[in-house]
Amino acid sequence: MKINNSAMKKSDHRIVLLGKPGSGKGTQAALLAKALDLPHLSSGEILRTEIRDGTRFGRAVEEYVLKGEIGPEELITTAILGYLERSGFGGGYILDGFPRTIFQAKALAGAFSPDRAILLSVPDRIIIDRISRRLTCTGCGAVIGPGKEPGSAEPCCEACGGTLARRPDDHPDAVAKRLDIFNDQVGPFIEFYRDNGLLSEIDGTGPASEIHSEALRSLERD
Ligand SMILES: [Zn+2]
Repeated sequence: MKINNSAMKKSDHRIVLLGKPGSGKGTQAALLAKALDLPHLSSGEILRTEIRDGTRFGRAVEEYVLKGEIGPEELITTAILGYLERSGFGGGYILDGFPRTIFQAKALAGAFSPDRAILLSVPDRIIIDRISRRLTCTGCGAVIGPGKEPGSAEPCCEACGGTLARRPDDHPDAVAKRLDIFNDQVGPFIEFYRDNGLLSEIDGTGPASEIHSEALRSLERD
């Protein structure tokens, strides 16, 4: 484990952040990681690292990624748990984007069991509104907004000057479909964490700073 001379390590929490696509869990995971001095592990980044390092699992995952697929959940699970083990992150982490299924939740519990699952609750209609107002730069892929509106005086990306557009899968119908998949897959394993007494459900609709404070308070409760 990393020795931190400047201050005592604040926490050894092992936290999984749960929430729908567009619930703001990436933002909250980053804020918690900073506040608790823990590594923020996003499943997407782990898989990209595995692919970049050319590990056995990285190469296997890459074959699916190149085809635009997610890959079988056994493979994803093995890749993520292998990364946690190799990196020595089993002692404390904020996991974002994993687990996504009951199979993955059980595998994680058997290897590096989380001590808390924080669920950001945001109603579907708010998610659909948030995501459908989001624009993506066609040049560099940066996600902008909500805030900038398409059509108003040719919006463009501040980083690269590229034009901004709504991604096809950010259209309301596509978002509703993604939410259906989420609700089908994630519902059962949210119950798994609830049954194990690990679930803290917090309101994810307010300002990011308030949600962050509520997440920190939820860690103090038993
Ligand atoms: Zn750009």
